[in-house]
Amino acid sequence: MVGPLDRLRPALGDALVRDRDIAATYAVDSSYAPTAPEDFTVVRARDVQDVVAVLEEAQAHGIPVVPQGARTSLTGASCATEGAIVLNVEDLRDLSIDPVEGHARVGPGIVTAELKSATHEVGLFYPPDPASADTCTIGGNIATNAGGLCCVKYGVTADYVKALEVVLPGGEQIRTGKRTAKGVAGFDLTGLFVGSEGTLGVVTSAWVRLVPAPDPALTALATFDSLDAAVRGVLALRAERHRPSLLEFLDRASIGAIQTVGDFGFPSGCEAALLVQSDRPGHAGEDVVRYAAALADAGAVETVVADNAAEADLLMKGRRMLNYALEAKGGRLAEDACVRSRGWPSSSGSGKRSASGLAWRSPSPAMVATATCIRRCSSPAATPTVCTGPRWRWRPSYERPWISAARSPASMASGSRSGPTSNGSSAAPNWPANAPSRPCSTRAGS
Ligand SMILES: Cc1cc2nc3c(=O)[nH]c(=O)nc-3n(C[C@H](O)[C@H](O)[C@H](O)COP(=O)(O)OP(=O)(O)OC[C@H]3O[C@@H](n4cnc5c(N)ncnc54)[C@H](O)[C@@H]3O)c2cc1C
Repeated sequence: MVGPLDRLRPALGDALVRDRDIAATYAVDSSYAPTAPEDFTVVRARDVQDVVAVLEEAQAHGIPVVPQGARTSLTGASCATEGAIVLNVEDLRDLSIDPVEGHARVGPGIVTAELKSATHEVGLFYPPDPASADTCTIGGNIATNAGGLCCVKYGVTADYVKALEVVLPGGEQIRTGKRTAKGVAGFDLTGLFVGSEGTLGVVTSAWVRLVPAPDPALTALATFDSLDAAVRGVLALRAERHRPSLLEFLDRASIGAIQTVGDFGFPSGCEAALLVQSDRPGHAGEDVVRYAAALADAGAVETVVADNAAEADLLMKGRRMLNYALEAKGGRLAEDACVRSRGWPSSSGSGKRSASGLAWRSPSPAMVATATCIRRCSSPAATPTVCTGPRWRWRPSYERPWISAARSPASMASGSRSGPTSNGSSAAPNWPANAPSRPCSTRAGS
């Protein structure tokens, strides 16, 4: 019997993944306990023509298509579904920067951190900064309108996408948006596609706005003995004329999880901590000192200011370690909730109540920037058992050699003189020997 994709096989060549074990690594994303369906096809597009061919054929035969980037989605959005074609576009990796126009043309497969570092080399800055920046792709960021640690000052992905090339279901190619500095005429089709999670078409190219590079960020850390005091600190910072470029909240459970991985300088016993940064050119140092004073006035038990970028970086490592720290504790279900700043204590409390009903722990870190409260329930008993096929799990970049060696555990710990710890410890945190290992296949050729 001739299958629906058989007509395409010769044209797709290597793009069609024939090895079932390799195909299985494309079946699931980084969500909680995803399972691979029995029947699905994986196409790794080599160019736009592969995307067009797949979408034409899929439409003709009524086959569902799942566009896919790096599979860091935490919601199951990039998982294969029964009978679907998984259309992976990680290999569409054009990148050119136009410093005069202040934008970059980016293929959807470019990893976010790659774009950030390429723009940095020419004195420009691509601000969106999801915590998964080392692994996720621009295509995925556009499809999910990804936000990140620096939203408080710079906004989210939608604020930087000027124009798109998209292949629609059925294979028609369109361009949206404007590449000029101003472009207000007509409907905002670009805005419609950003955040549409692959439901309207496959993004094959994007023009993203760049801004002048800021100064390296400096950081202050404040600890509090109550959530209310931390919220008062946040409100004080929101009244600042020069607002922070980053403002992160960690509750007791989150801090406890981080400190089990290594000593990142968070004192045990505090109810909450705020990490706050400034990158204002020429004024970052004075800003963080002023923020620390404002937080002390608001009731911080302790404030520490990192007076150079290396110290600032070290403080942030603890925050970035949170996902690994929670993963190490067992099954994990992450949920984002947006609340008004004043609503945190009650929101956090209700999360803990519902989690305690399930005998789960519920750390609630927050990107104060976007007032996004991220609830991560974890339970030692919740280790996934329902997985039926080989699973792909999100892994740090050092376990994904095709991405970057730059953030290996060695480099994470290297050059790290002791951080500004509040408990007097001078130990620079190393990647722990017992860090979570993740079962996975490597992305070999098909
Ligand atoms: C440790 C960790 C930290 C994270 N931190 C953040 C964070 O701070 N902020 C945040 O917003 N998210 C965060 N995420 C979630 C995830 O990284 C983002 O949603 C990211 O944008 C997904 O990119 P991706 O390349 O992995 O896309 P995938 O997971 O492959 O796909 C995500 C969605 O985009 C669609 N898609 C992918 N590429 C295309 C394309 N070219 N055209 C059309 N649709 C496409 C898919 O169909 C799917 O619906 C985090 C995830 C992890 C594991």
